[in-house]
Amino acid sequence: MNILVADDDPIGQQVISATVRSFGHHVCEAVDGLDAWERIQTESIQLVITDWQMPGLDGPALVHRIRATELDRYIYCIILTVRDGQNDRVHGLNAGADDYLVKPVNPNELRARIDIAARILGLEQQLRAANDQLRTLASDLHHQMLHDPLTGLLNRQGLYEYGELEIERAERMHYALGLAMLDLDHFKDINDQYGHAIGDQALVHVSNQIRATVRPYDLVVRWGGEEFLILMPGIDLNESCRIAERVRIQITNSAFLTLRGEALCLKASLGVTNASSIVLDLNGLIAKADEALYVAKRAGRNQIAWS
Ligand code: GH3
Ligand code: MG
Ligand code: MG
Repeated sequence: MNILVADDDPIGQQVISATVRSFGHHVCEAVDGLDAWERIQTESIQLVITDWQMPGLDGPALVHRIRATELDRYIYCIILTVRDGQNDRVHGLNAGADDYLVKPVNPNELRARIDIAARILGLEQQLRAANDQLRTLASDLHHQMLHDPLTGLLNRQGLYEYGELEIERAERMHYALGLAMLDLDHFKDINDQYGHAIGDQALVHVSNQIRATVRPYDLVVRWGGEEFLILMPGIDLNESCRIAERVRIQITNSAFLTLRGEALCLKASLGVTNASSIVLDLNGLIAKADEALYVAKRAGRNQIAWS
């Protein structure tokens, strides 16, 4: 272990340091409380053995400061002092010390107390590692919860999580918010003709085309099977229609080749709407885009319509 021995008495310091070194630990020395505090912040100290009376910062004050500061590890603290009154022990432990020993200390007892520290610190490290793992797992799960596994786009839940924020921001900042709903035309035929696996690849291809056509901060969502939503902050209806048309052309023009080299002809219809004139909630906005999409489908597909 990396152990810091803080003592302003050079002889006492030497005795304790030599004893601790003889147990096989790495020891560094601090000449008083402030020196100890500096070293704790810059060196990877795991255990502090501190005297009580020292100029500047005494032992209990040092321990109290360690406990009051958010450090990246737990530091085990032992106060080692000539003060052997019951009140002193209580005061030292209340300051945050894990252990309290009275000088002169028996080397075997000191060794046993340091072994306890090693055990507790080992457990603390295990707990920290498990906690880190859980945190990573929770963040992965949260990501999975909000994204579609096939395309990597946001899913419905992802849209509600981020889209509500965009609606709020648009209302607060009085800026427009465009929404386009895209539905692939006759996509069932692709599945029927080439199989479901190719259909899946085509969906990935389409989502890549949409992503590449819009701005990085537009939200692209896989709304359902072959339906996508594009939420465009700060974009009015005219501009939303222009972007929707660009997406439609991009899908039509970008050939998707199967492994057998067949070029799939993908087409899409889009319904476009905007939240600039009437304040709408997300579901209201989606319903309007859906209505417009229905119009585009009815008018012959492979086109955009707006509402
Ligand atoms: P329309 O132009 O009216 O939208 O016709 P369509 O065939 O695209 O619409 P329909 O709703 O009849 O069919 C949608 C198709 O999308 C059927 C379904 O199998 C397919 N689909 C939905 N989700 C997936 C998926 O995850 N993978 C694949 N391969 N196909 C999917
Ligand atoms: Mg559909
Ligand atoms: Mg469709």
